[in-house]
Amino acid sequence: MQLVFAKRLNWVRKPGRFLSLIVLVLLFLWSYAAPAADEVRHTLSYPASRQQLIQVRSEFPVSSPVTELIMPNWTPGSYLIRDFAANVDRISAVSEDGKVLRVQKISKDRWQVDTSQPGRLVVNYEVFTPNLSVSSSWISGAFSLINGASVFLYTEQSRNLPQLLEVVSDTDRGEVFTAMPLAGQDGVYQASDYDELVDNPVAVAKAPSYRFIYENQEYVLLNVGENESWDGQKAARDVEKIVAETQSFWRTNPLKRPYWFLNFAVEAKGGLEHDHSTVIMTGRRQMRDRDDYIKWLGIVAHEFFHVWNVRNMRPAELSPYDYQHEQYTSQLWLAEGLTSYYDNLLMSRAGLIKPEEYMELLAADIHRLETTPGRLLRPVTEASIDTWIRHYQPNSNSVNSTISYYTKGAVIGFVLDAYLRKESNGRHDLDEVMRRMYSLYSGKPYTSDAFEQLVIDLGGPEAGEFLQSLLTTTSELDVDAALDWFGLKLERGPVAVGDKDEEKTGEVPLTSGFGVIWDEGEPGLVIKAVLAGSSGSDAGLMPGDEILAIGEERLKADNLESLMSSFHPGEETTLLISRRDRISSLDIKLDTAIPDRFDIVLQSDFGKRHIKRLQSLLGQNLRARP
Ligand SMILES: [Zn+2]
Repeated sequence: MQLVFAKRLNWVRKPGRFLSLIVLVLLFLWSYAAPAADEVRHTLSYPASRQQLIQVRSEFPVSSPVTELIMPNWTPGSYLIRDFAANVDRISAVSEDGKVLRVQKISKDRWQVDTSQPGRLVVNYEVFTPNLSVSSSWISGAFSLINGASVFLYTEQSRNLPQLLEVVSDTDRGEVFTAMPLAGQDGVYQASDYDELVDNPVAVAKAPSYRFIYENQEYVLLNVGENESWDGQKAARDVEKIVAETQSFWRTNPLKRPYWFLNFAVEAKGGLEHDHSTVIMTGRRQMRDRDDYIKWLGIVAHEFFHVWNVRNMRPAELSPYDYQHEQYTSQLWLAEGLTSYYDNLLMSRAGLIKPEEYMELLAADIHRLETTPGRLLRPVTEASIDTWIRHYQPNSNSVNSTISYYTKGAVIGFVLDAYLRKESNGRHDLDEVMRRMYSLYSGKPYTSDAFEQLVIDLGGPEAGEFLQSLLTTTSELDVDAALDWFGLKLERGPVAVGDKDEEKTGEVPLTSGFGVIWDEGEPGLVIKAVLAGSSGSDAGLMPGDEILAIGEERLKADNLESLMSSFHPGEETTLLISRRDRISSLDIKLDTAIPDRFDIVLQSDFGKRHIKRLQSLLGQNLRARP
């Protein structure tokens, strides 16, 4: 394991003054030379006077009398129709000899150009970047992120041709960073086709980068927005541990060139996977707090695991990408959910989190699952198909109508892993299924029965039936049986008040509640969602209601907990609410509060066999505490 840090590493070597002159002359001559007929050339530049805009010039080879220019509607990895064409303006076209061509808009994502004269079509347009997110582009004075699907047009004739990209930046904006390889000319990048072009996000920023090599493979962590709260060197050391653990998990390295972690500490969140890079967004002070930092490491582990699971090994329905339409797959529990199972596990195996921290993360996933009524309505395979209309567009009823395939998929990973280990008495596990899956389906899209077949091969027909029930029914996942194999149990609450002794006797009233989720963006106690089957739902509460008082008492954020604890579950009282600014009261019979967390603890008979099993899962040496 070799570690080389190169802060503020320059990827483009700075030539001497004389050399610069030659390069400039060559660049000048080159830019006026006719580009090869079999490639597309894109040039990005910044308009001088306006923010959030990027100027695009694209040259396409054309051979048919009419050419359609197409803007993608979504970007792979983020399954939502985003209608990127809505941000495209001032589009114009000229022929190779400078003749202005008519551009006609024919649908929301297409423009038609008269190209009866063969040769090259030059298109100019600008793209507005309204949102800062991992799945779109953002142009600002401080930094830019270019996600190709939201910026580059394509034509059916040229989609499979090599694509060249030049980004015209200056010292104020900073350097250009991307995993796309240089084409040979200084500052010009080359992708083998349109898919590769849009799979390589580009960052333009003044930012430090940290480089390391693991088993002859190069990696770079770019820290856009690095500040006194971000220890870039420590982050790079921890990223390397994740890289090493993930590479040794899969036992085969699909990377063909340096892999980039494009990390933006810009008070945004999320991550998006690509073949040779990932974009991660995080808070500026995320590293200050241990739990927050673990969240960041979890995203790093998640996105890097995706290099294998979803980039190189992908559901058939997502291959090849159709940038204009939804591609429906039932397999996101595998592509995303099992990736979520392994992101925490690989952090543990890499020694980045303690066993008890892993158990807290697992308990949090189980808590999210078991407090979401929608798990009883929609199987995880259906939630996957519905991602286009549900997951990225949640509303106040989502909690009642669906379940996240990330959350349920992660818990399925744990339950299935424990099942395979238990049934084979520790000889088989989920890791093995994942690796077999990869050896069969890397670069060859898999159908929806592929994973099940491998589970049957390993665990027999009963294992197949077990998996089917996890995926296609809404039965509760038996996490208790899974935990039992490891000598663990889950304490589900409900939360009790008073001292420990009283808790045990059960004589103390339990904290009561009425089954609502509060809207954290609002100053008062405003309801974001009402859980199906809760007393709040029975009483007639609605999302948007502001709760002003309970019984005779004014209810506020700072006395919510203590006031609710003063009522017994089952007790009847009244709520004073404001609904669309009209004050009214509702009678309510209080529930037991939804536990605000679950805890995984050792069983009383926890012993050596459990330690062995847990060590095999967590990849850490454990000692039983006295
Ligand atoms: Zn993911």
